[in-house]
Amino acid sequence: MGAGAQLRDAKSTELYARAVQRLPGGVNSPVRAMRAIGRDPIFVERAEGAEIVDVDGNRYVDYVCSWGPLIHGHAHPEIVDAVIAAARRGTSYGAPTEAEVDLADEVSRRIPSVEMLRMTSSGTEASMSAIRLARAATGRTKLLKFAGAYHGHLDGLLAEAGSGLATAGIPASPGVPDTATQQTVIVPWNDGEAVARACAEHEFAAILAEPYPANMGLVPPVEGFLDLLRNKATDNGALLVFDEVITGFRVGPGGAQERLGVMPDLTVMGKVIGGGLPAAAYGGSRTLMDRIAPAGDVYQAGTLSGNPLAVAAGLATLRLLDDTAYTRLAHTTEALAGGLREAAAHADVPVSITSVPGLLTVFFAESAPRDYEGAKACDLDGYGAWCRALLASGVYPPPSQFEAWFPSLAHTHEHLERTLEAAAAAFHEVAA
Ligand SMILES: *Cc1c(COP(=O)(O)O)cnc(C)c1O
Repeated sequence: MGAGAQLRDAKSTELYARAVQRLPGGVNSPVRAMRAIGRDPIFVERAEGAEIVDVDGNRYVDYVCSWGPLIHGHAHPEIVDAVIAAARRGTSYGAPTEAEVDLADEVSRRIPSVEMLRMTSSGTEASMSAIRLARAATGRTKLLKFAGAYHGHLDGLLAEAGSGLATAGIPASPGVPDTATQQTVIVPWNDGEAVARACAEHEFAAILAEPYPANMGLVPPVEGFLDLLRNKATDNGALLVFDEVITGFRVGPGGAQERLGVMPDLTVMGKVIGGGLPAAAYGGSRTLMDRIAPAGDVYQAGTLSGNPLAVAAGLATLRLLDDTAYTRLAHTTEALAGGLREAAAHADVPVSITSVPGLLTVFFAESAPRDYEGAKACDLDGYGAWCRALLASGVYPPPSQFEAWFPSLAHTHEHLERTLEAAAAAFHEVAA
């Protein structure tokens, strides 16, 4: 298929008509609805490796990969086997298991600042709990967060929260009381002076950051910015909390903190840690984590936390991530970013592409954004048209300018060739 190609969509259309009657917007999480790129959602039937097949039989090279968890691609045999074996032994006990201790060991071995951790079922829950701990440990309530950073849909942080919200153009959600966000100070990403001013004015419980923000598209920190956050947090008496839900186990074995050499007090993890099943965690020093109940007085709990199936998937996922895997993922990402750059240049479409191993964003702008304002100024219609053309040629990109592409270890040279061919045609189509 080339320019102007059409997807078969009879069954997806029929399912969507049914879905909107029962599910708000027809989906269980907003970005899946694909409204940001001006089309209806695609219903998936199955997936394997780097490819998904929709209910109408269209096949795509997938760059969403469940928004990050599937670093080994879909239905990796070892991960599926681990989940099946765990399920046969019982799906949930509400009592501790050996595998949870093994997973905690694996995480702690990799992430330098995490001596102890607590598992939850979602990243939202993990950041909510990390904030509770930061407030308990400091005796303060205020938080500093960056515009365009997303830490889950908890009330206090639903202000200028990037991706889904940025896409939908909702500044903050109705239903979030003022009192919840009044304690949150929002500062532009990569603006050291604004951070300094906020720190001079407020006593924070925590400074929260995605070390490589990927929910306004991928907008890496400028040189020295994370060091500045570390120093400002320490001087302020605040905890530095890195939300590594996307970057953890992806940009390198020890996440962004190891890659960039800046240690947070608390780390929020998710996505890859559950290998495609619902799992997340927060962790830090023994002293801090010993405040969590029942070791300490900060309450936090979860019926399905440390669920045996999720833990089995997470363990199998982490154990497959050796140095060779990270080298390969870095090469794949670079080849993809380079090829997309070339294809855009050839078609004379002004884009700028940011990337770190395992993540990239194609910004429809002459130069790469430094912050959320910059990301919002991109040609969103151009991005949407390009994405629709990609889908029609069998490539499934993140359906929003404010999300990252998630290349995986299942993406082969052949997948990249197919992707770049489709991308070139799609760039020509939007240039025309
Ligand atoms: C996805 C995400 C979350 C929220 O995780 P959920 O499991 O969707 O609740 C938090 N922080 C970041 C950086 C994320 O990308």
